[in-house]
Amino acid sequence: MTRAFNFCAGPAALPTAVLERAQQEMADWQGKGLSIMEMSHRSKEFVSVAEKAEQDLRDLMQIPDNYKVLFMQGGASSQFSMIPMNLLRGKGKADYICTGQWSKKAIAEAKRYCDVNIAATTEANNFTSAPSQDELTLSADAAYVHYCPNETIGGVKFDYIPDTGDVPLVADYSSAILSEDIDVSRFGMIYAGAQKNIGPAGLCVVIIREDLLADADAMLAGTPTMFSYKVAADNGSMYNTPPTYSWYLSGLVFEWLKQQGGVAAIADINRRKAQKLYDFIDGSDFYANPVAKHNRSIMNVPFTLKDAALDKTFLAESEAAGLLNLAGHRSVGGMRASIYNAVPEAGVDALIQFMAEFAAKSS
Ligand code: PMP
Repeated sequence: MTRAFNFCAGPAALPTAVLERAQQEMADWQGKGLSIMEMSHRSKEFVSVAEKAEQDLRDLMQIPDNYKVLFMQGGASSQFSMIPMNLLRGKGKADYICTGQWSKKAIAEAKRYCDVNIAATTEANNFTSAPSQDELTLSADAAYVHYCPNETIGGVKFDYIPDTGDVPLVADYSSAILSEDIDVSRFGMIYAGAQKNIGPAGLCVVIIREDLLADADAMLAGTPTMFSYKVAADNGSMYNTPPTYSWYLSGLVFEWLKQQGGVAAIADINRRKAQKLYDFIDGSDFYANPVAKHNRSIMNVPFTLKDAALDKTFLAESEAAGLLNLAGHRSVGGMRASIYNAVPEAGVDALIQFMAEFAAKSS
C-alpha cells in the first residue's frame, strides 16, 4: 500500500496501522459475522468497544475520576452553543480570550446567550501571539472562562494554562488534544472535535468536571435535550444513537497511541517534528512564519512563501511529490502543515527536503 504524507488540518491523517486493522475487521468484527457499523449501539459488543475507548482515553490523559467523558455529536462548533447553555447556570456573563478565528466563532455564538467579556485579544497583532497571564482581564462574576489553547488556523499555542481562580476554565483543545500531557484537573471542561488527533469526523469528546453538569432547571431555558451534558452523562453518551463507527475508530487510535508509549512519548516526537520545521523556516529567507516563538503551535505550522505568486506551483508540485493538503485555511491563504500525532517524522523530513529544493529552484 502506498500512502502519501497528509498535512490536512482536519479531517486529518490517521495511523496506517489503525486503518489496516479497521479494514481487517470491516466486514466481520471479531468473528461475529457482521460489521461494527451494523450492530446495535446497545449490544454488549459495541458497549464493550465504547467503554474500552473511554478507559483508554482516561488512561492516556490521566483523567481524574470526578470528570465525565462524553462522546458527543455536532462537532466542536456545536460546543460553542452548548457551553453557554450548560455552564451559565443562572449567571449572565462569561469571559472569553480571543486568539484567532476559532476563538472568534466561539465568542460570536456565546454572545447569543450572555454578556461576553473579552478578557484579552491579540487581534491587534493579527493573532500572532497569545496573551500572558497578566494581560488577562478576568471578571469575578463570570460563569466560566473560555479559550482556545491551540488556534488551528493561526498556529498559535498558549505556553501556559490560564489561572482563573475558582471560575471554571473551558478549553477548545480540538487541534492539540493528546499532543502533549496536560493537567486535566486545571480545567472545568475540555472539548475537542475528533477529526485531528482522535479519529474520524463525527464525534466531539467532552471532558467535564461532574459538579458542572447542570440539571434541567439550571440549564438555559429552551435548551434541546440533546445539548445537555447531564443527559449525555446520565445516558453513557447514548441518549440517542451515537456515531458508532467513529467511536470504534477513535478507540483504535487510543490503542495505537498507547502502543506508541502514550502521550509523553508522542509529545517528544511532536516537539522534535515541529522544531525541525520551524528551524528550517527560520533559517530560510524564502519561507516565513509570523508567530511569536514561544507561542508557536507544534500541531499546525502556517508559513508563507516569499512571493505569493508561487503558491499555486508550490501546491501542485508538493501534491505531485506525495505531500498533500498544504494549502493554508481559506480565510488566510498561504500554506499550513498540520503535523498531528499520525503524521510520521519521515513526513516532516520529506516536507523540509521538498521545501528546500523548491526554494533553491525558485529563488
Ligand atoms: N475549534 C478548533 C480549534 C478547530 O480547529 C475546529 C475545526 N477545525 C473547530 C473548533 C470546529 O470543529 P468542527 O468542524 O468539528 O465543528
